[in-house]
Amino acid sequence: MSNSLLSWLSASFTRKIGGLSTILLSFILIVILYSVVQLNTISREMRELAEIDIPLTQLASEFELKQLEQHILLERIRLASSTTASDSSGQKNLSLQLNEHSQLVQTLLEQAVTVASNALKTHEILDGIQAHKELLNHLEAYARSHEILHARIAQTLALPLDEQNGEEFETAAEQMDLATETLLNQIEQLTEEVADITEGHEQRFLLVDTALGTSAFVIGIYITLYLIVSFRRHMGEIQRKVDRLNHSLQGSSATEISLEPAAGDDELARLAANIDGVLDSFTSEMKNRSEVEKQLLQLATTDKLTGALNRHKWDETLAQEIRLANRGMPLSLLILDLDNFKGINDRWGHDVGDRVLVRTVELIRENVRSSDLIFRLGGEEFALLFRNHSKQQAAVVAEELRQIFEQLEEKNLPPFTASFGITQYESGDSQENLIKRADDALYQAKTNGRNRLELG
Ligand code: GH3
Ligand code: MG
Ligand code: MG
Repeated sequence: MSNSLLSWLSASFTRKIGGLSTILLSFILIVILYSVVQLNTISREMRELAEIDIPLTQLASEFELKQLEQHILLERIRLASSTTASDSSGQKNLSLQLNEHSQLVQTLLEQAVTVASNALKTHEILDGIQAHKELLNHLEAYARSHEILHARIAQTLALPLDEQNGEEFETAAEQMDLATETLLNQIEQLTEEVADITEGHEQRFLLVDTALGTSAFVIGIYITLYLIVSFRRHMGEIQRKVDRLNHSLQGSSATEISLEPAAGDDELARLAANIDGVLDSFTSEMKNRSEVEKQLLQLATTDKLTGALNRHKWDETLAQEIRLANRGMPLSLLILDLDNFKGINDRWGHDVGDRVLVRTVELIRENVRSSDLIFRLGGEEFALLFRNHSKQQAAVVAEELRQIFEQLEEKNLPPFTASFGITQYESGDSQENLIKRADDALYQAKTNGRNRLELG
């Protein structure tokens, strides 16, 4: 396979169709141009044919008439010579008539020569016709021989028609007949040849036009078939891919995508509908995914039991908050631990202990700002980070919480208290320093009797 054919096969759809359409249009253009030129030529030929054929045919019939008249005249001369051989006045009279006739024939001949030579000068069609040239030569030759023959006949008529004279007269008359006959034949042959040439042109025109038209038709059919086959193949491929995608997005619930267009629905409309389906599936899949991601993030950062932020989030957030505090934003840390929680578990059971933990976080949340962060550090120990609060301000909140816990009386919930250790960020504090000071304060609160708060 040649390189050009390979590159044609791998060319884009648009280029292929564009190329074939250009060829098709060129063919159609050639057919039109060729037809215009040929029709023009044929019409010119028909005109030329009419211009040469009509006058020559007219002249031919006049020649035939003159030949007939000449026959009659010669017959009368023969008759006159056999009956009244001595009647010289009758012979003279016939001789005059013959002269007159001869002049008329000469005039006709001149007309024929004019028609034929004018036609030869102006008409292309006659250029290649040998018969025309022969006719012209013959017309001139005929004119000359006619003159000579008439002169001879007139000469023989001037003398009484004796045996010798009579023979010469007959020979001259026969020669004239023959010359006229040849002339008529040649005129006929010429008009026939011109008609043949025109007919030949018409046939060639029909043949070429049919060939070009058929080629254009074949190319047109090829383009149409190519378009249909390519379109169906590519559409089929795209449809199958969309179908697969739809299946993989929707699982087994995906409806089968039909490759055949429904009534009133073409392949493109069907494809658009299928792509819509894919997009819908894709959108809901994305929604599900972001929902799942949100849930995963929630699981990763919050404590399952209480909903407070978990230990993992605590480490990450504390480092971040210390960076902010380093730039001058006040930050306080409060660590609280439920008192004698082991005893609650032991006395009321683990589930009740869980409910206490959940309620503790609820009560904290209800009593702090939404921007204050609540963490469960483990067991029954919690931490709170207060932005823009000094440790004294944090202590006010802690005292409120302490009292709320202490005074809480709820059905199905045992009484409980908590101890609080409070500190604030000091310039140059590390994460550990800060936590240690709060832890120490909490320890102090525990050792000082519990259900109280200490500042560190
Ligand atoms: P203190 O006043 O000194 O803090 O005494 P405490 O009993 O509260 O402290 P301790 O460290 O001795 O006991 C903590 C208990 O908390 C032990 C453990 O069983 C319990 N605990 C830890 N996590 C959970 C939990 O998720 N649910 C329940 N119900 N109990 C828990
Ligand atoms: Mg405790
Ligand atoms: Mg504890």
